[in-house]
Amino acid sequence: MKQLSIKNLFTVSLMLGLFLIYKTNGQKNKANKPDSVIQFPNILNYKTIVCDFHQHTVFSDGEVWPNIRVLEAQKDGLDAISMTDHIEYLPHKKDVLFVDKNRSYEIAKKASKNTDVIVVRGAEITKRLPFGHANAIFLKDGNKLVNDDITAVLEEVKKQDAFVFWNHPSWVIHKKDGVAKLREIHLELLEKGLLNGIEIVNNTTYSEGAFQMAIDHNLTIIGASDIHSLVDWKYNINEGEHRPVTLVFAKEKTEESIKQALFDRRTAVWFKNTLIGDVTYIVPLIKESLKIVNIENYRKSHLVLSISIENKSDVNYILKNKSEFNLHSHADILTINAHMTTIIQVKTLKQLTEFDLKFKVLNTLIAPKKHPSVTFKIKVENKK
Ligand SMILES: [Zn+2]
Ligand SMILES: [Zn+2]
Repeated sequence: MKQLSIKNLFTVSLMLGLFLIYKTNGQKNKANKPDSVIQFPNILNYKTIVCDFHQHTVFSDGEVWPNIRVLEAQKDGLDAISMTDHIEYLPHKKDVLFVDKNRSYEIAKKASKNTDVIVVRGAEITKRLPFGHANAIFLKDGNKLVNDDITAVLEEVKKQDAFVFWNHPSWVIHKKDGVAKLREIHLELLEKGLLNGIEIVNNTTYSEGAFQMAIDHNLTIIGASDIHSLVDWKYNINEGEHRPVTLVFAKEKTEESIKQALFDRRTAVWFKNTLIGDVTYIVPLIKESLKIVNIENYRKSHLVLSISIENKSDVNYILKNKSEFNLHSHADILTINAHMTTIIQVKTLKQLTEFDLKFKVLNTLIAPKKHPSVTFKIKVENKK
């Protein structure tokens, strides 16, 4: 074995030191969770429930047995999932009979025993255009959805007091230009109160048109993986990616409470490091995520103030400075990394006792292309 010379040892320790300085420069890592676990703070006296309501198994065109979906959900820290195998599209029928439309749910439900994952009964209603696909969740019996007439199917869903959302309205197989558009049948069903929600995010795609439709027609917004293979293969979790999920703001972590929240449109979508939803929930989510944890006194006669912001969420927030002051530590665009504390320095020009720090949060959406702003009230205590 080659001996380390004093010179080499010195170089190694210098590099290690430089690395540590680099790692801690302005940021302290507070993360104490596996990369795959999706984590958000609770807001407005609601619990933030992480859900994926669109998943497939071998019982339709998926590639895994239903219990794998439960194990994946456990790994990703999800609170609730649904097996939504196609009622009509059954490419594995030579090998796996899906005569009983409740079967994939039943297997997953059994597998979820002794876990924290809630499994709700679901199905993907799979019709040709003009209707397309929709997921019904919180069903009582999937077998009763076997019917060629979409209106009759959705009336049955309503009878079962289940929740239904229109899937991937911008899917290029159904809409070549990828622009979501309501057809006559959807307008009819909306009129009859037979559609409750819409996927604005499906798998790796976002639909601005669907988001606008949700706003115009009071539909609940949903984001889901529509996973067919394995979540870990599809999304590069180790590189900081995550599956798209719906955040549901529920009174309790129970099936009934989650269902109620969906009907009350208390949701947001978490997709590719972007939070999407109504301002009612997005701004509190930002405010509960980003906390001012320390404000240092001005040093001597300096006019620059150091402020520590802790980020308690999975979002790497991208902020644009909208305050009246420039930053010393950053340009006007800055990132507050997930589960870390970031120190920012503000050039206040005078030694102030209080002032406002205002940021536009660029990777959050409260309507198509519209980003909310948040203000932090800064109070400098014990000013010398
Ligand atoms: Zn589909
Ligand atoms: Zn699907």
